[in-house]
Amino acid sequence: MSLNQTRLHNLGFPRIGARRELKFAVEAFWKGDTTETELLAKAADLRQQNWQRQAGLDFVPVGDFSLYDQILDLSFTLGNLPARVQGLDGSELDQYFRVARGRSAGDHDCNCVHAGEMTKWFDTNYHYIVPEFSVNTRFNLNAERLLGQISEAQAQGHRAKPVLVGPITYLLLGKAKDETRPLSLLAQLLPVYAELLQQLAANGIEWVQIDEPVLVTELAPEWQDAFRTAYAALVGSGVKLLLTTYFGQLRENLELACSLPVAGLHLDAVNAREEVERVVATLDSEQVLSLGVVNGRNIWKTDLSALLDWLEPVAHQLRERLWLAPSCSLLHVPVDLDSEQKLDAEIRSWLAFAQQKLDELRVVHSALNHGRASVAAELAENLAALNSRRTSPRVHNPEVQKAVAAIDATLGARQSAYPERIAVQRDTLKLPLYPTTTIGSFPQTHEIRKARLAFRKGELDAAAYETRMKQEIEFAVQQQEALGLDVLVHGEAERNDMVEYFGEQLEGYVFSQFGWVQSYGSRCVKPPILFGDISRPEAMTVDWIQYAQSLTDKPMKGMLTGPVTILNWSFVRDDQPRSVSCQQLALAIRQEVQDLERAGIDIIQIDEAALREGLPLRRSQWATYLNWAVECFRISANGVADTTQIHTHMCYSEFNDIIEAIALMDADVITIETSRSDMELLDVFDAFHYPNEIGPGVYDIHSPNIPSVEQMVKLMRLAAQRIPAERLWVNPDCGLKTRQWSEVIPALQNMVTAAQVLREDQ
Ligand code: GLN
Ligand code: ZN
Repeated sequence: MSLNQTRLHNLGFPRIGARRELKFAVEAFWKGDTTETELLAKAADLRQQNWQRQAGLDFVPVGDFSLYDQILDLSFTLGNLPARVQGLDGSELDQYFRVARGRSAGDHDCNCVHAGEMTKWFDTNYHYIVPEFSVNTRFNLNAERLLGQISEAQAQGHRAKPVLVGPITYLLLGKAKDETRPLSLLAQLLPVYAELLQQLAANGIEWVQIDEPVLVTELAPEWQDAFRTAYAALVGSGVKLLLTTYFGQLRENLELACSLPVAGLHLDAVNAREEVERVVATLDSEQVLSLGVVNGRNIWKTDLSALLDWLEPVAHQLRERLWLAPSCSLLHVPVDLDSEQKLDAEIRSWLAFAQQKLDELRVVHSALNHGRASVAAELAENLAALNSRRTSPRVHNPEVQKAVAAIDATLGARQSAYPERIAVQRDTLKLPLYPTTTIGSFPQTHEIRKARLAFRKGELDAAAYETRMKQEIEFAVQQQEALGLDVLVHGEAERNDMVEYFGEQLEGYVFSQFGWVQSYGSRCVKPPILFGDISRPEAMTVDWIQYAQSLTDKPMKGMLTGPVTILNWSFVRDDQPRSVSCQQLALAIRQEVQDLERAGIDIIQIDEAALREGLPLRRSQWATYLNWAVECFRISANGVADTTQIHTHMCYSEFNDIIEAIALMDADVITIETSRSDMELLDVFDAFHYPNEIGPGVYDIHSPNIPSVEQMVKLMRLAAQRIPAERLWVNPDCGLKTRQWSEVIPALQNMVTAAQVLREDQ
């Protein structure tokens, strides 16, 4: 490493392994099939491989690896364990998994406790375990795990840069279990951070990456002050701090971030490129600026020549003070594109996973330090791939673009306002008071999965697979008729996943084989890749729903995933705004809705489970997102006659700040998750005078417990105190795909009985 060169580093590498090795190792340990020693050995192995993949960087991240979650790791490092696991038998690892998931390994762990709460990491689909605070919170340094990993990396010849989430972000991400103000814990927390940094220095560490992503969010003044207090207290710990921000712009926190007494700052130069100039001007002449120039959140190749055009003058100005990295940790992208042998070759040439993103950085680094000629071949290849993507007819479909350009306000408007529609629907549907229904899916049994696998492998032909799925549908319809439910569903047996199922049938999507990304703990998701203009070559669900309707005289709900949810659970294009991709999806779903209506389906549910997830990090940008998201939902839903009843479903419990948007969606019926909240969640619907019908979930589908008639009647009576009975539906919180029929039948039986009891109340 020459001293006057730009340095190359990484903020974090995906820990799961290219073949999800970590998932399988952890799950085998939980089942009791392997020992703690074996699990730890496997983890060390994976760390070694991950560092090997990053060899050649000036610094590799250490401490980004985790057996479950890096925030939970930090809680352990800081000695902040919930009281409920303290003093239980077992090793530290047992305690760790108890907080993570309620229990440790195998049957030997009967020390079950309730798991720590989990929530989304900023606006990503990664979930962390929320730190818990109370009056009894005390911090105690436990640096052993981190120090152990540092010596591993050093022994393997890497220059280690520990990664820590900083004190302010840690406190802001946590939750007090009593009246304690997280900020009041800062004074207690800082000495522990300081001690940790001193220990790192004593172990030969020069630089520490200290992540404070809350700097890209709106901070109350007392938290801005907390930043000043915190970083003043960490000066003199013997290491250099790289204050690291990502996922967005610093905006009003820019001066603050640049004024803190740290040795360097990392800025997300993908999302905040326009701030680079100001940051360069504001930092002092000693401070390092690390720029995240390759997008750590998506899977597209970077336009390297365009990047160099912009970056060369910056590099010239900053010289050895410039470092290069991905915009954020690579945790959010799959490991290695080389694993993808079945992916369409043309589309594959447009992609970069974690490994390839580091390669891109190496090319940029070389171009800056040794001139573009030193990487001429790589740059030419990159340019060719980008040109092919820019001009490919598979990406650009003029028909679709024309349809999007023709979108106007009429498309999202229904024929009549809700009061008129609902009157017509009541006349035709003739449902009882407190109508009962379910959210869509019935148990995805082992047999269903087996049949799907056999079909995929070619062991079962299409006709035989269809017959099998129709049998499942028939079974589900029979069960629902026997239970006496009012509005039936087909049960979604034929769907593997509520997004992938649609993605597979739409033009403009591809699927990777190994493109897994960690969602939480051992759970990984494989987001479909939305690469081109979206169109729907043919109807996607009509045959199945029509078949299901043919089996019953009761209304059969058509079941679709909404455009916003499909978008938010995919890797999306970076060559057009998200809103445009969403409009294209909305037009495709609209066609499906209209086809269902033509096929005689009177009730159509469009799930928007992920609408809330798409909210931008800053509140000031919420309105813009909600505007286009709601409009896209309306475009998808509203091309129908008044007689067609539109349902939507959302499984979350926070509507306070989006109730206006929910009302604007104007679905005739919305079903939501409420069973755990004693219907308090309906207060906001009540206060807002939400006018349409609501099905507040009365059956917690996440639990194997069977809810009793009394429980559900009680919940619905609480609901009826807030929403008039004429506008209430009775249904579970969400789909039943993860449950077993033996649980579902008695639970729904009780639910139907509860509705009968409620009708007698009237
Ligand atoms: N219709 C879907 C189901 O019942 C909805 C799932 C969801 O909201 N997450 O499974
Ligand atoms: Zn749901």
